[in-house]
Order: sequence, then C-alpha cells, then structure tokens
Amino acid sequence: MLRRTDLRSDGLPGPAALRGLLPRAEVDVDAVLEQVRPIVEAVRDRGAEAALEYTERFDRVRPVGIRVPPQTLRGALAALDPGVRAALETSIERARRVHADQRRTDIVTDVVPGGTVTERFVPVRRVGLYAPGGLAVYPSSVVMNVVPAQEAGVESLVVASPPQAEHGGLPHPTILAAAGLLGVEEVWAVGGAQAVALLAHGGTDTDGAELEPVDMVTGPGNIYLTAAKRLLRGLIGIDAEAGPTEIAVLADDSADAVHVAADLISQAEHDPSAASVLVTTSDALVDAVDAELERQVAVTKHVERIRTALGGPQSGTVLVRDLDDGVAVVDAYAAEHLEIQTVDARAVALRVRNAGAIFIGPFAPVSLGDYCAGSNHVLPTGGCARHSAGLSVQTFLRGVQLVEYTEDALREVAGQVVTLATAEDLPAHGAAVTARFGR
Ligand code: NAD
Repeated sequence: MLRRTDLRSDGLPGPAALRGLLPRAEVDVDAVLEQVRPIVEAVRDRGAEAALEYTERFDRVRPVGIRVPPQTLRGALAALDPGVRAALETSIERARRVHADQRRTDIVTDVVPGGTVTERFVPVRRVGLYAPGGLAVYPSSVVMNVVPAQEAGVESLVVASPPQAEHGGLPHPTILAAAGLLGVEEVWAVGGAQAVALLAHGGTDTDGAELEPVDMVTGPGNIYLTAAKRLLRGLIGIDAEAGPTEIAVLADDSADAVHVAADLISQAEHDPSAASVLVTTSDALVDAVDAELERQVAVTKHVERIRTALGGPQSGTVLVRDLDDGVAVVDAYAAEHLEIQTVDARAVALRVRNAGAIFIGPFAPVSLGDYCAGSNHVLPTGGCARHSAGLSVQTFLRGVQLVEYTEDALREVAGQVVTLATAEDLPAHGAAVTARFGR
C-alpha cells in the first residue's frame, strides 16, 4: 500500500538533497495567494459584510451574525454529552499542567555595576485562535490553542471556527462547548481566509457591535487559511504553518507492525492529503506493516480518505541501512509527529534535531498527543519543524528588554559607543551620549 524508497545502497546525500528523495506533499501555498488576496482585501475594506458573503459562497450558509451569542455557548455546554465533557476535561487539565510549567520568569542580567538588562516576558494582548471545521471538527484544537494562550496570560481571546450549514450557521456544537468549558466568552462563526482577515482587521457585526481586531492569529487550517496568514503576517503575528497532518515512524526490528500500521492510519484519517511515512532498517517490518495496513484499513471508518492519503506521493516507506541513517532521514524530513519504535527509543529520540513532537516507545502513540498527553498538538508541518516549534506558552509571549544604566555606567562605556557610531558614520548617535556629559 505504501510506496517504497530504498536508500540503503549508497551513502546518504546532505540534508537538502535528502529532502528531495523523501515522500512529501506538494502543498503550494503561494499558488493560492492570488485566490485569497481578494478575500483578504474585501474583508479589510468591507468587514463583516464581505466575510459573510464569502462564508455564503464557501460554507454554503449565512449566519445571522458573526459573533456567537453568549447564551448559545452556555447552551452548547449544557447539551454536551457527559462522556465527551469528561474527556475534554481530562485533556484540558493535562494540557494546563504542562503549559503552566512553560511560564517564563524575568531574566535580569547585571552587565556591569550600575548597568542591567532585564528580559520581561509579556503576553500578546489579544489573540484570535482558529479551530478548523471543514472535513472534520476539532474541539481538541480549541483546547490546544486556548490553554497555552490562557497560561501565557493573554488578556483577550477570540475563537473563530467555520459555521456549519447543518447547525444553523453556528460553528459545530462541540467547538462551542469546548470554548465554554475553557471559559472563552467570544466565539466568531467564520472560517478560512475570511476568518483570518476579519480577525486581523476587525469590523462591525450585523447587529452593529464592534469586532475588535487581534494582535495575533494561531491555529491549524487548510491551504486558504495558511495563505491568508502569510498575506497578513506583519499586521498580525502568526504561529508556524500547521497544514495537513504528518506522521513519521522511525522503527527497527523490535517494532510491533500492528502498532505501526495503526498509528500510520490514525493520521491518514485526518485528510486525503495527510502524510504517513515509515523509516526503517527492517525489510520484514515493511512487509508486515503493509499486510497490517491492508487488514486494518479495510475495517476502519474513513476508508476512502485513508487510502488516498496512504497511496499519495506524500506517504511511503523509506528503507535505511542503520539507525544513524534513519536519524539523518527523519531530521531531513522534519516531521510534525515523529514516533520512535526502536530498541532504546529514548536514546534515539535524543539524537533527533528536527520534529514538532517526538513520541517515544510503544505506549506513546500520536493519538495520545492529539488529545490527552498534555503536550500540544498544533505543530509545524511541511518541514517547518526545521526552524519552528509547535504552540506553547512561548508562542504568546514576547521578550521586552528593559535597559537600565546609571550615569557612571554610561560614562564608562561612552567612548566605545562614540567609536562605533563614528565607524557607522552616525555621529548623532555618539552625540546623544556625549551630550549627557561635560556640561
Ligand atoms: P478549515 O477550517 O481549515 O477550512 C474550512 C474553510 O475553508 C471554510 O470555512 C471555507 O471558508 C474555506 N474554503 C473552502 N474552500 C475554499 C475555496 N475554494 N477558496 C477559499 N476558501 C475556501 O478546515 P479543513 O479544510 O478541514 O482543514 C483543516 C486542516 O487542518 C486539515 O488539513 C487538517 O489536517 C489540519 N489540522 C492540522 C492540525 C495540526 O496541528 N497541524 C490540527 C488539526 C487539523
């Protein structure tokens, strides 16, 4: 079922060339930028009215207003299935424990006597958190966005999610209930590019109420949402791009083919463009996983979506000579989710540089991380894990430097400042220091 790439014959090329040999989705965000630009511009110019027009076109429903009334949030929470509520509470409680530990305290450096620099970690004031609602609805993404923002101390939060025709133009009831459970009071019924544009520019709702613009937008979504984030970056802050989900499994002979196949299928279930990649030293495991995939896919629910994802160019098996090459391959791939199913899995995991999150050993499947590990599931995809991290408290904090020097401390370094200013032909910079002395 998975196409095979055999990298055992020659030595591996360098990381950039190696990336070219590995399975990967061709998600060309730039190709839809020009499709999305008119949406962003119309929402900038005409606000909620334009957002509602695009909602009607793409979501095939026109909500009465963008802002979901507070009583609707309370109603969705009251109607939530008790089992789902208990599971969401477990997810929230574990995520809170992990994210609370990520809070930062100020860092004070005494550079010289009388001269200090303090790094203060200050939360972004207002953020928009996106919960996707196209192919599947993700109340878990509400948890994974809201918890780190709240633990970072973000003062003002709005959740946006696409309206659903079958729910009268409201976001899915479990999205509303999850927001209610987290104490979020502001939810907007808007999705895709128009959601990002409205969050960034704000507007006036159909009842005349102001939709206040945000400083930052985070959360996963499809290519249109990602393109809008790229277009609006600068006006707003954004997180790393989190597109179609990916799993890579690095495995040796010791791995259980039943587990590996189940985990590859679990991520393929998200989306026909999801990627499932097995990197292994073992021919026997490749055969066993292939047989397991056939068996397990046949009896799972979303067969068509999974077959498309597993059969696509973004998925496959990569055979490597040894685990050293395996580590080089997963580093080049930089998976959103990486599982290590080898002997001494933790030691192997510690050698990996690039991954959104690493799941170690037989009892830490990616599905655990999707919901209840306590870790965050909004993670960089498409190789962005080479340079970016998943959502955390840090995403919502900015280091603001406080610079404090006494007169003596400034005097002591004044000559060096003047020298550097002169070298850069910026004499007024030097003068701003010398003006403080010699009067
Ligand atoms: P979505 O909410 O991102 O997109 C739905 C919106 O797309 C709609 O509201 C609509 O307005 C817009 N849209 C649809 N067709 C359009 C068109 N032709 N032009 C412009 N806009 C259009 O939901 P989705 O589509 O299901 O995508 C969610 C994605 O997020 C999936 O790829 C999933 O794998 C991914 N995901 C990633 C993570 C992660 O952490 N990486 C987590 C959850 C989901």
